[in-house]
Amino acid sequence: MTQRIYNFSAGPAVLPLPVLEEVQRDMLALPGVGMSVLEISHRSKPFDEIILGAEADIRKLAGISDDYHVLFLQGGASMQFSMVPMNILPPGGKADYIITGSWAQKAMKEALRIGTVNVAATTEPENFDRIPKQEELKLDAQAAYVHLTTNNTIHGTEWKYDPAVGGVPLVADSSSDILSRPINVNKYALIYAGAQKNLAPAGVTLVIIRKDLLERSPKGLHTMLNYNTHAKERSLYNTPPVFAIYVMRLVLKWLLDQGSLEVVKRRNEDKASVLYDEIDSTGFYRGHAKADSRSLMNVTFRLPNEELEKRFVAEATKAGLDGLKGHRSVGGIRASIYNAFPKEGVEALVAYMKEFERTNG
Ligand code: PMP
Repeated sequence: MTQRIYNFSAGPAVLPLPVLEEVQRDMLALPGVGMSVLEISHRSKPFDEIILGAEADIRKLAGISDDYHVLFLQGGASMQFSMVPMNILPPGGKADYIITGSWAQKAMKEALRIGTVNVAATTEPENFDRIPKQEELKLDAQAAYVHLTTNNTIHGTEWKYDPAVGGVPLVADSSSDILSRPINVNKYALIYAGAQKNLAPAGVTLVIIRKDLLERSPKGLHTMLNYNTHAKERSLYNTPPVFAIYVMRLVLKWLLDQGSLEVVKRRNEDKASVLYDEIDSTGFYRGHAKADSRSLMNVTFRLPNEELEKRFVAEATKAGLDGLKGHRSVGGIRASIYNAFPKEGVEALVAYMKEFERTNG
């Protein structure tokens, strides 16, 4: 099969078509280099241009000042669950975690290996269907940092505000909504994101870290797990995932071509609203997330029963709408519509939903 289908997968996820076309065109030889990006040294001039270009473009897009390092690491967002507390939680110290889903829980588990955790809020009793309000957060002024998950990929909820945390450093897992809307970087001390949803193929993890945080890393920490190593060596201490960084560079150029993250956000709002309007239209479909917490990236909903959900997914796949099965922990349907997901794909899904309801409702 060479025809592209609509890929609603939560990640790895759809990449912009012009990016794939450029990757394909230059696969055998990068222009002026005569070798493919898969074959060049990470210490070569062409790769230096790629990684420096990627960093410059992220800084430009997100408005990141010189107070921050931009790092390209490995090990996925899951490695950051560990690296964050290993570096910035003093042994036996306390950290605040805001629990809005399974990924936040996994992040918290790693912090508990180093110190204690204050659950500043949790929406688990409501099956993680919403983001807590500022007044619900029980923050500890003595905490080493506050951790949150800006977009909850599994449950389909997303923070619509940057919580006020006093002077305590705010740490965000933004794996599934990074660069999908403007970011107030200055409100955060550290932002991390696995790349395989909005940025690149799997293999690279973006870390934006405020420079003063580097002073916290314990001296005895293993070299590869220490942010100082990667900051000092500009993410080239060891061999970085060159291909993933190259593709990220192309995705960033594609994003810059859109104009700004404000424009990207408006597009994402437009796409998501088409889908949420359909979910809300008759009662056959039921959105999982509460209206004020709905994610622009992962749209989660249920049908009247599991049998219908199974049929919905199976027939959708046959119709060229792939990856709609909800995460195994919550069931139902999940349509992931990241930056690169085309509006026509959302419209195709809505047409399919209408027809499915007509024949099964
Ligand atoms: N955090 C969030 C919000 C995620 O969606 C995911 C992956 N789906 C992860 C963390 C884990 O990322 P990785 O697989 O890169 O470790």
